[in-house]
Amino acid sequence: MTLRTQHHIAGAWCDSADGARLAVMDPSSDALLAAVASGAAEDVDRAARAAAASQPGWWAAGASKRSAVLAAIAAAVGAQGEALARLQSRNNGKPLAEARLDVADVVACFDYYAALIASASGDADVPLPEAGYAARLRREPYGVVALIVPWNFPMVTTAWKLAPALAAGNAVVLKPSEVTPLPELALAQIVHDVFAAHGIDGGVFNVVVGTGERVGAPLVAHPQVRKVSFTGSNAVGTRIAQSAAEGIKGVSLELGGKSAIVVFGDADLDEACRLVIGGAFMNAGQMCSATSRVLVERGIAEPLTRRLVEAANALRIGDPLDEATEIGPLASPAQLERVQQYLEIAADEGLQRLCGGARVGTRGNFVQPTLYADVPSTSRLWREEIFGPVACLRTFVDEAEAIALANDSDYGLVATVVTRDAARARRVADAIEAGLVWVNMPQLIFPQTAWGGMKRSSLGRELGPWGLAAFQQIKHVVAAR
Ligand code: NAD
Repeated sequence: MTLRTQHHIAGAWCDSADGARLAVMDPSSDALLAAVASGAAEDVDRAARAAAASQPGWWAAGASKRSAVLAAIAAAVGAQGEALARLQSRNNGKPLAEARLDVADVVACFDYYAALIASASGDADVPLPEAGYAARLRREPYGVVALIVPWNFPMVTTAWKLAPALAAGNAVVLKPSEVTPLPELALAQIVHDVFAAHGIDGGVFNVVVGTGERVGAPLVAHPQVRKVSFTGSNAVGTRIAQSAAEGIKGVSLELGGKSAIVVFGDADLDEACRLVIGGAFMNAGQMCSATSRVLVERGIAEPLTRRLVEAANALRIGDPLDEATEIGPLASPAQLERVQQYLEIAADEGLQRLCGGARVGTRGNFVQPTLYADVPSTSRLWREEIFGPVACLRTFVDEAEAIALANDSDYGLVATVVTRDAARARRVADAIEAGLVWVNMPQLIFPQTAWGGMKRSSLGRELGPWGLAAFQQIKHVVAAR
């Protein structure tokens, strides 16, 4: 697989107009992985214009052609899956096994939207109460859409936007995170090749690499961009929504979380332990869906806590490309610094540390998996998204208190409920304010179920038919018979 380090604009690889480059680092070793093009407003403008010029042809190609192209992208990603997984592990630091799951998720997502758009019935008749008139519903694309993604799941967050945006007939300008552009550039090469093989104009899919200030902000403000789909932090999401409001543009936001896992006293302790550890420490805790608030029914607090500490201490920290590794480095020195700040806040607040609490080594961004007990609601560690391998435990006495504690957050992305009592599982899942609740299972995500949260976690939903609708505009044509 060729390592791409340039923008992809109008079907060609190119440098920034001003020749600027930015360093992409290996989070395991602090070594330079690549110097990639660092775009600015001029590059964004070229990309948006290329997208605008190419979009009508892509829309006119029709749903079955778009479906075939999406299916071909899925197949090509699958065929190069191992190389993509390795590149993602190297750039982002996630263990290889997790990177492989991400690749499988990307393939499933493109396949799902390939099938959905193929089965879409096109224009639909709308029954009217007056016989003299007929109405027709059309779902049209926005035109040019901007996709802005973070570094924690580079390929997955891209696929969840790119597949439905293309399926709906839009042309795209993608801005990867400046921390992890390499997997998206590899994905761009795949899309480029599939487009060429199918005779699709390369301007339908553009990638401009660079920082939020130099590329993200001018992209959101660009007059050709009619819709922005963003995944990232609440602070940036708020700025994007404000900028989009100026242009009366559509905007979808997938933001932060501070989710709860609720473990009832009847749970299988080994299974509960696996679910807590996975929910807190997968991707070194750098998950918007991390269940970093662990609520445990008082009766099992002592034995479950003992298991959790043993399991956390046993997690193998190391090179993400080593098959034995379970926790890789954090994705960047900035993220390491942020997590270390929270470890200091925990010490200042006098929180009871059960395990972890320190950086590992002096090279790379490794942090021990860390658990705190009896964390009060007033603690910043209880309330704020840390985005690292740090979780807070807390006990509850009954179902009502468990629900109240789970909902004690400004966020509402996901939750996990662990209990053998099916009726209670249903009651609690229904009462928790979250967009997705898992019951007695790990955090599996299917393209058929919506992704997104309540409260400050999201605006809109991705995946499923809702993910496609996010990239479509409704038009009705009403005519006299
Ligand atoms: P971030 O908000 O710092 O950056 C996200 C993207 O926005 C990057 O590509 C960045 O360059 C760009 N950006 C920054 N400033 C911009 C601006 N002014 N205009 C336009 N674009 C700009 O987030 P991050 O640190 O990369 O990712 C971590 C955050 O993402 C966490 O808060 C996490 O919860 C969230 N996240 C949410 C989901 C979800 O589905 N809800 C999934 C993954 C990550």
